Amino acid sequence: MDHLLSCYQPLPVAFTHGEGVWLWDTDNNKYLDALSGIAVCSLGHAHPAITQVIKEQAGKLLHTSNVYEIPYQQELATAITQYAGLQRAFFCNSGAEANEAAIKLARLYGHTKEFQTPQIVVMEGSFHGRTLATLTATASRKAQAGFEPLVQGFVRVPFDDLDALHALSANQNEIAAVLIEPIQGEGGIHVPHKGYLSALRDLCTQQEWLLMLDEVQTGIGRTGKFYAYQHENILPDVVTSAKALGNGIPIGACLTGPLASNLFQPGKHATTFGGNPMVSRVALTVLETLHEDNLIENAARQGDYLIQGIQEAFSNNPHVIEIRGHGLMIGIELDCPARPLMQVGLAQGLLFNTAQTHVIRLLPPLILQQNEADEIIKRLVKVISSLN
Ligand code: PLP
Repeated sequence: MDHLLSCYQPLPVAFTHGEGVWLWDTDNNKYLDALSGIAVCSLGHAHPAITQVIKEQAGKLLHTSNVYEIPYQQELATAITQYAGLQRAFFCNSGAEANEAAIKLARLYGHTKEFQTPQIVVMEGSFHGRTLATLTATASRKAQAGFEPLVQGFVRVPFDDLDALHALSANQNEIAAVLIEPIQGEGGIHVPHKGYLSALRDLCTQQEWLLMLDEVQTGIGRTGKFYAYQHENILPDVVTSAKALGNGIPIGACLTGPLASNLFQPGKHATTFGGNPMVSRVALTVLETLHEDNLIENAARQGDYLIQGIQEAFSNNPHVIEIRGHGLMIGIELDCPARPLMQVGLAQGLLFNTAQTHVIRLLPPLILQQNEADEIIKRLVKVISSLN
């Protein structure tokens, strides 16, 4: 009997070790990792700086709890809010938890305005996590089915549609916040039109709604800026982050600007593990390494190169409907289900996954070099040609 609950359908492969963009399986086969553990291992596998800091901190102190001061957590809050252009941070252990914190902030904010039932606007096609509130914020009926009753206080509008938001502002007077991914990841790699986020920022300011950006997948350099909203030179009120912040050590963060920085007071929100000395120090090292090795600029450069290469490789392929993305967050929409191709990818030594049913999703490490990008394209051509 399988003693794991049936939450996943893993591919029949397990890995023993990795180095940079490469992974090796139990039979010593080598794979190019174009998924990074779903946008987590952005510095690649077994990065020497991360290995070193984990070893060192493990020998000193792992955890004390937030009952006591944690200097590395303070340092991390200073560093990440500086990168974000925001003020304060709460650290937790996952993306869903970071979004839970944001949702609670929106409720507190709504109550400061004396709303009876503060509403959070969320988008069609969104993904925000699997806890009950974040599942409710997520657009997938399939993911929600069976978990009713869901959480109250969410209204949904189409993504990348300003008119829908304007219409809502005219009809609904208890909106506290908008929660949105700057680029939808699980929803199929959807990049909104240029100017959408800044227009949304203006609308939120005008309506006094918190603009809350879920940068769990897009953040920490993935799209070629530290956060994706920096492509539009705006500042949100709340940002959620996780995944690549720990390069594989679980950490989430909820960051706040002036409107949201004083809503939590002691007793309003907490976590046992969040921001412990180990994770905080690792995350600090992740930020330092991204900066010192110019990896965000590299993500922008290699992302452009990879997207262009994929476009050239598949411009005449009848199965490829659209190529979308920004930086190293790339989707290839097919005219058929994409999941069977993950197995074909294994045979070609290429790791990727899917988003929605028809989209191949590539999230390679930000350390990617041009010859490795070429290799991804070469292997993808073999994978997609299996459809003929
Ligand atoms: N938000 C976004 C945009 C995500 O892509 C994800 C995970 O894929 C989450 C939230 C949930 O993060 P976690 O799985 O760490 O709870």
